Amino acid sequence: MRISVLTVLPGLFDCFLKEGIIGKAVQSEKVKVNVINIRDYAYDKHKVVDDVPYGGGPGMVLKPEPIFRAYDDISKKFGKPFVILTEPWGETFNQEMAVELSKKEHLLIICGRYEGVDERVKTIVDKEVSIGDYVLTGGELPAMVMMDAIIRLIPEVLGNKESLKADSFMDRGLLGYPNYTRPAEYRGLKVPEVLLSGHHKKIEEWRKRESLKRTLKKKPQVIENLLKEGKLTEEEKR
Ligand code: SAM
Repeated sequence: MRISVLTVLPGLFDCFLKEGIIGKAVQSEKVKVNVINIRDYAYDKHKVVDDVPYGGGPGMVLKPEPIFRAYDDISKKFGKPFVILTEPWGETFNQEMAVELSKKEHLLIICGRYEGVDERVKTIVDKEVSIGDYVLTGGELPAMVMMDAIIRLIPEVLGNKESLKADSFMDRGLLGYPNYTRPAEYRGLKVPEVLLSGHHKKIEEWRKRESLKRTLKKKPQVIENLLKEGKLTEEEKR
């Protein structure tokens, strides 16, 4: 998979692409990432990428030409991408979208800045995506949020495949189960006995039950929908 990013602040991605699981995925080329400075596609010698809005008003708008030129170049080099534009009013990013996007061969994420991009850019956009109902200064953090969630879904990026299955939202929207590590008792707080038992079947059943309990408490709507759609087993209903 390849992810291309168009931004006016490419330096923001430096740490993100070097550290941790994402850093390893990039180094081992399980994902190829190219972060492109929109300024490299500006025409003039001052590399201007923004201009005042037609009709007046505050702030600046990202000009269309550098973005279109970058898009043409990226498409020529790496094939036509699926294009995402970060927008506060876009479709809200979630795990289902991450799974869907992780199957694309080539994603291009356009990071807005200032008052946003010239509306005509949207003719090359497949999906406008928001990471929540609040306004950030730019689309770079949303791009990193999406990339993080998408890259960890790429086969073999996570050392243990099982950990993906146990993740919240991966199994019918159910939330993850509680985790404990050593010591078995700390400040009088004990790890549930069953986890120390070594009895795999019982541990699995306990985790399933806790996952259902947590979902019922934190996201009752998910359980209601699963019940309506007949997607819970008889055992899970109990
Ligand atoms: N003028 C815009 C408005 O009316 O909402 C706000 C622009 S914001 C300051 C600059 C850019 O940051 C946006 O164009 C978008 O690319 C990005 N951005 C801000 N908040 C976002 C969010 N919640 N999700 C995704 N992108 C966001």
